[in-house]
Amino acid sequence: MRRALELALRGTGRVSPNPRVGCVILKDGRIIGEGWHAAYGAPHAEIVALSSATEDVRGATMVVTLEPCVHQGKTPPCVPQILASGIARVVIGMLDPNPLVAGKGVEQLRQAGVQVRVGVLHAECFWLNRYFAKHIVTGMPYVVGKVAQSLDGCIALPNGESRWITGEESRRRVHALRAEIDAVLVGKNTVFRDNPHLTVRAVPGRQPWRVVLDTQLQLPMMSFVFTDEYRERTILCCSAAALRTRKAETLRESGLQLLEVPTDETGRLHVPTLLRLLAERFQIASVLVEGGAQVLSSFLQQNLLDELHLFIAPLVIGAGRHPFEQRAIETLEQAWRLHLWAVLRSGEDLHVIALKEAPSVSRAVRESMPSEVE
Ligand SMILES: [Zn+2]
Repeated sequence: MRRALELALRGTGRVSPNPRVGCVILKDGRIIGEGWHAAYGAPHAEIVALSSATEDVRGATMVVTLEPCVHQGKTPPCVPQILASGIARVVIGMLDPNPLVAGKGVEQLRQAGVQVRVGVLHAECFWLNRYFAKHIVTGMPYVVGKVAQSLDGCIALPNGESRWITGEESRRRVHALRAEIDAVLVGKNTVFRDNPHLTVRAVPGRQPWRVVLDTQLQLPMMSFVFTDEYRERTILCCSAAALRTRKAETLRESGLQLLEVPTDETGRLHVPTLLRLLAERFQIASVLVEGGAQVLSSFLQQNLLDELHLFIAPLVIGAGRHPFEQRAIETLEQAWRLHLWAVLRSGEDLHVIALKEAPSVSRAVRESMPSEVE
């Protein structure tokens, strides 16, 4: 299963909104076939592994990170092909949360006399596909918040200056997150102040969508996200009124995607609707919210964050801006209490990962995951 997980990772950035899946075929304790889901619409890992087999697979064991499918999607269902191949035993990491599968794959395999075991390295398999799991069940993207801050919790000076609080390794990790997630999202102020590219440069990987919230279309036309070579991967979100302006037309002509989002009673874009539109129109299953404070506060206020990545530099700023400063609560019971998932060292910084939902995983299992816990 560890080998199958390694193979699954090769689909990173290429298969969403599908899951990352890896598969190994074993005979007499030897690997005779391997496969992974390599691209959206491409054959599933099980089928690739079966066709890569160097020996007859009859009587062999298939090890696969996710329950084999029974439904017709972009490709025919896997279970009938596994049965036809004569595989005798199937070892599965996690059940498929897709309501069209959800245990039916296991059921059909067992009914046909195949021996099935479920839940091997379940935590690792689930972690790999947590974005997919939320998106397939709810139709909403999985939302990760990213904060780069000082030891005393500041993300910027009072005047907004914020560049280079955290170090090189943290920057590399943020780029790795961007390469695995479908879309990076920022507010207008972040683009206005920092003019970021929001691309993947410090690691190899594919470029994410860049989602910019600019209700009234006030950002300068020369911003990098509107003019650089990836501008066709920019989704500019604005109100219906802004969409009817000459500026909107010009931006659209230069290759950007413009998305009309309804506004709420305060005149701001309605974020839950925005997330649903991103999932429906662009098949975006995961979003990385990179700021600034207004956007992060608004996501927190509406309970829209599933996961938080905190990069903490050994630096004390004093008076400064805080990541969630626009949320105000009356009592400590109203505070957002997260579940600590991992505390990592990132160069000279700390990298803390916390989750909204308690992970259904024992501590012992987590500590056996070298890539996540140091
Ligand atoms: Zn399949």
